[in-house]
Amino acid sequence: MARSYNFSAGPAALPLEVLQEAHEEFFDFAGTGMSVMEISHRSGVFIDIARQAEADLRAILNVPDNYKVLFLQGGASLQFSQVPMNLLRGRTRADYLHTGLWSGKAIEAARRYCAVRIAGSSAPTGFDRVPAPEEWRLDPGAAYLHYTENETVHGVQFPAAPEASVPLVCDACSSLLSKPIDVSRHGLIYAAAQKNMGPAGVTVVLVDEALLDGALPITPDVLNYAQAARADSMLNTPATFSWYLTGLTLRWILRTGGLDRIHQANQAKTGLLYRAIDASGGFYANKVLPAFRSINNVPFFLADTALESVFLRQAESAGLMGLKGHSSAGGIRASLYNAVDLRAAAALADFMADFQRVRG
Ligand SMILES: *Cc1c(COP(=O)(O)O)cnc(C)c1O
Repeated sequence: MARSYNFSAGPAALPLEVLQEAHEEFFDFAGTGMSVMEISHRSGVFIDIARQAEADLRAILNVPDNYKVLFLQGGASLQFSQVPMNLLRGRTRADYLHTGLWSGKAIEAARRYCAVRIAGSSAPTGFDRVPAPEEWRLDPGAAYLHYTENETVHGVQFPAAPEASVPLVCDACSSLLSKPIDVSRHGLIYAAAQKNMGPAGVTVVLVDEALLDGALPITPDVLNYAQAARADSMLNTPATFSWYLTGLTLRWILRTGGLDRIHQANQAKTGLLYRAIDASGGFYANKVLPAFRSINNVPFFLADTALESVFLRQAESAGLMGLKGHSSAGGIRASLYNAVDLRAAAALADFMADFQRVRG
């Protein structure tokens, strides 16, 4: 079997072991004579899968007992609306940090529900950093402060969670489970599974139960966190197969050493690429200030932009897939999520050096 080196930004690479496990029990799950995707979400078999996934996620992230763990649908993009719908709790204002494309989308969506204040922005410098906390203008009357832990398109990551007197809301879509995070410092954390946790179709929400029960009256039942929590994320039919595969991926994370091991691996993988870029004498460039460089996504540009399409074509021929930058940013982007191993990063670094030798 030939497996490509997969640098896709999402849906992204899954651990081969997880795919093999799912393959093995695809037609007959646990002696039921049925595939996981053919059984009721109300069956004991599936409820066990759901319970185990929650228990494993709680163990991996040290989720405090007073937090609800929800497995929802609609992707991280739906959270851009679901967060203000549920967390305004009678307030009319929310603070947002603007650090790249995804926080920009969260801001635009929230404007429908409340007065959004931009508490800090790196737009003036082209999203090359997290603005310095001394420059933030935080509103003590805000319902919450929202930040995007890792900007997947711009490759900008928070070196530490922000300090705030109001509940902290984190879009951790591309970084949850890629390194340790202190859940207890947050009011709510959300992430879609298809970056570091599993396939598309499941969105994980961790929420402090003290923030529930203040949803806007217009909130549909299926978008109400409190109701979802009371129904164990099964108000309606969940994405059972995605949930199951996410569960297998969580088991894999636990089995292979948890978040400390994964964090080190992600630093090593991206470190290889940043070194390759910085050693290229300007042939390749990453625009992010070193303190804010992402350990999940490495965007870079060729000084000669006309060479980018050649680079991408030759990379694909060499089995290096999914490297095209986001349509809004252009250039190249290597996403090195949990299931991408060091060999893949090394293969890409070698390819970059070879390409520069021939074309530089
Ligand atoms: C991918 C991503 C999203 C959007 O996720 P969808 O599941 O496609 O809605 C939002 N925020 C960040 C940081 C992302 O990386």
